[in-house]
Amino acid sequence: MKHKYIAKKHWGLGHSAMSGSDALKGGCNDLIDFSIGNPDLVTPIPIIDAAIEDAKNGYTGYGSFRGDPELVSEIVKQYKKDYGMDISSKEIYITPSATAAMYICLKSILDEGDEVIVQAPYYTKYIEQVELTGGKFVTVDTYEEEDFQIDPTRLEAAITDKTKAIILNTPSNPTGNCLSIECMKEIAKIVEKHDILVIADDIYTAYSYQEEFVPFASLPGMFERTITINTVSKNFLMTGWRLAWIVAPDYLTDVFQIINDGIAFTACSVSQRAAIYALKHRKEIQPAITKVFRERVEYAADRINKIPGLSVINPPKGTFYLFPNIKDTGLTSEEFAREVLEDAHILVLPGTAFGECGEGYVRMSCTMDIKQIAEAMDRLEKKFTK
Ligand code: PLP
Repeated sequence: MKHKYIAKKHWGLGHSAMSGSDALKGGCNDLIDFSIGNPDLVTPIPIIDAAIEDAKNGYTGYGSFRGDPELVSEIVKQYKKDYGMDISSKEIYITPSATAAMYICLKSILDEGDEVIVQAPYYTKYIEQVELTGGKFVTVDTYEEEDFQIDPTRLEAAITDKTKAIILNTPSNPTGNCLSIECMKEIAKIVEKHDILVIADDIYTAYSYQEEFVPFASLPGMFERTITINTVSKNFLMTGWRLAWIVAPDYLTDVFQIINDGIAFTACSVSQRAAIYALKHRKEIQPAITKVFRERVEYAADRINKIPGLSVINPPKGTFYLFPNIKDTGLTSEEFAREVLEDAHILVLPGTAFGECGEGYVRMSCTMDIKQIAEAMDRLEKKFTK
């Protein structure tokens, strides 16, 4: 990254573990790739058809500055119907992806040196997003023995007079776990006491298997201090459409607009039309999607727990990621990932890609059909059965 024409502050930048995984794939024609959270299934056809129809009808230019009014209105209705929340259209801002949404949020709230607390293991892009927007990245470790819940005492100990926000991600990438309602209530007390914001990265709402998803913003008193991000990427198998939204108090959505005016200006018009259809028909579309991924993680978790040296929380609670514990193999996360790639042609990400406390784990994204998962489990079984 070092070059006289690149700003010196960016000379230390590197690619995240996820972007680097492409390089590992070379030369293996029977590779089973658990590395990236990109669903293998195509966007439901009725969503695509609706978008094509709307494109033909003229939705091909710049849209409204804050998002297609019809989409905004669908989001208002969805929050009321699914979560009983009354939000207004002024509290919604449409963005080109949750990735962009997080960047815009952080850019809007952080002064240089402000601290952002993140539960670890964490989604890898958070670190770059916090640092590139001038913040200091602070982690609070969570542990499998504690069901990957955020411990209130540890959280409070990480808060300083520089803390501006906490990023919460439930259901979580990479652990696949969900924060309990009790844990969220404890967090609510703490953020109130210390007057800090929460950024709720709520993007896996359709993949909460054991309990109904509850948005952090819906807890008493929390809407005023919560910025919620959601996207069509995972909930509707639309990662390539690059479309998301932020729900937050209107003084914040106003600044999101000003900042994004100079980045992407508006979100893709056709993708917004697709999202309108998706949201309107979510009750018909989502159950089938959830079922497919739930079956996959449940199958994979059962198989993993029969492989010597491996174990994973079972039944899985959410997402399409599993975060198996590999400590009993005697290998580090990096060694495990390298060995299973070389010996079994299986690509997983080492848990350390998601923070130091991911040592002893690997992340497996179940974004392939059950037949392939079964084949991968057969190969792992063979490798680890002495
Ligand atoms: N947040 C989390 C926790 C994710 O796992 C991902 C993608 O994997 C994103 C945000 C990015 O979503 P989008 O595709 O809308 O940029």
